[in-house]
This record gives sequence, C-alpha cells and structure tokens, in this order.
Amino acid sequence: YRIDYLPLEEIPVWTSKGASPAQSRYKSNDALRQKISLFRGDITKLEIDAIVNAANKSLLGGGGVDGAIHRGAGPLLKKECATLGGCETGEAKITGAYGLPAKHVIHTVGPIAYGGVGDKERNALRDCYLNSLETAVQNQLRTVAFPCISTGVYGYPPEDAVEVALATVREYLDEHHEQLDRVIFCVFLKTDEDLYQRNLPLYFPQA
Ligand code: ADP
Repeated sequence: YRIDYLPLEEIPVWTSKGASPAQSRYKSNDALRQKISLFRGDITKLEIDAIVNAANKSLLGGGGVDGAIHRGAGPLLKKECATLGGCETGEAKITGAYGLPAKHVIHTVGPIAYGGVGDKERNALRDCYLNSLETAVQNQLRTVAFPCISTGVYGYPPEDAVEVALATVREYLDEHHEQLDRVIFCVFLKTDEDLYQRNLPLYFPQA
C-alpha cells in the first residue's frame, strides 16, 4: 500500500516567486533551473533513483534523517552498510534502499561543525554534495534528493550550509546536467524551506 510514496511527477520543479536578483554571480539557465526542486517533507517517502543520507562514519545508523532512513529501509540496509568499512567525512557510498521507495541510498558523512565553520568544514560539506552527485552519475541514477547535510546534530549553521549546497549543485550541473534529470533539496524544517526559497534565486536565477 503505497499511498505515502511520492513519485517524481508529484514533486514540482522549483520556480522563483519574485524577480531574479541582479546580484547573482550565475548566468540564468532555464534548462538547469528545471532540474531543481525544493521539497519540504520526509526524504524516505520519495520514489526516485537515489536519496542521500546524512550518515555518520560508521554507516551503521544514527538519529535524525539517518535514523528515519534505516527505519524505513529495514535491517537489510544496516547489513549491507556493515560490509562497507565505514565512510570518511566528505566521501559517499551507495547501497540498496530495501523497504524504501527510492532505488538506492547514497550515504555521505558531513563535517561536524558545532566548533565553528572554517575552510576545512566548508570543503568537506562541498565534497559531500560533489561525491554524492558523482556517485549517482556513475551509477546512471538521474534523480537525487539531498537532506540538509550536517545542519542537524552536526551543528553546521543552516544559513552557511545552504550556500555550499546550492553553489556545489549549480557548479556540478553546469558540467553534468545532461546526466541528471532532477536534484531535489529535501528540507524538513520550515526555517530551511525559507532559507532555500531566499537563496535559490541567487544560484538558479530566472531569465
Ligand atoms: P547531521 O548529523 O548531518 O547534522 P541530522 O539528521 O541531524 O544530520 O540533520 C540533518 C537534517 O535532516 C536536518 O535539517 C533535519 O531536520 C533533517 N531531517 C530529519 N529527519 C528527516 C527526514 N525524515 N527527511 C528529511 N530530512 C530530515
């Protein structure tokens, strides 16, 4: 009974509500913009090629989005994860999704940032997005959803994380957009939805 499952067709493409800000550093590119969604809700419900997990280095499950993904997928996910030898910060590893509607889970480990954000944390967060996208493309996966990596228990300030997330995805899509159909920013909190609504026009300005 799959009434909870959200197929791609039910996840709208993001459209800018206001006029495009003139201060954007990026060229407007409608082909790219039409590959972006902003969805607020539970990432485990998405019936797409891959959902990204904000995991910890053990890959054996944790709280937050990691806990939700393992609960939804069932015990076989942990069993597969246990064969992977963990994951370093900024790296990404792919598994099946078992009981989830997605086809795969891409596990990435965000930086711990409650001590503050410097180049090390910023670069690690960027690597999470890049390596996850690269993993998707290498596996011919064309629809990918990201949670707000590191901004929960790992303490990365959401207003800084959104800039890294959007800049990294924009720059990756500039090079690889023909290999991906949709990148979904799956936010859970209203405050993150507002942050993404405010920042998306800077990275994906409308013509
Ligand atoms: P981290 O340890 O990387 O900080 P968390 O899971 O603690 O990871 O938080 C990352 C983000 O995931 C937070 O914005 C949190 O609100 C969000 N989140 C929690 N549960 C879900 C879920 N089921 N779907 C999508 N996002 C979720």
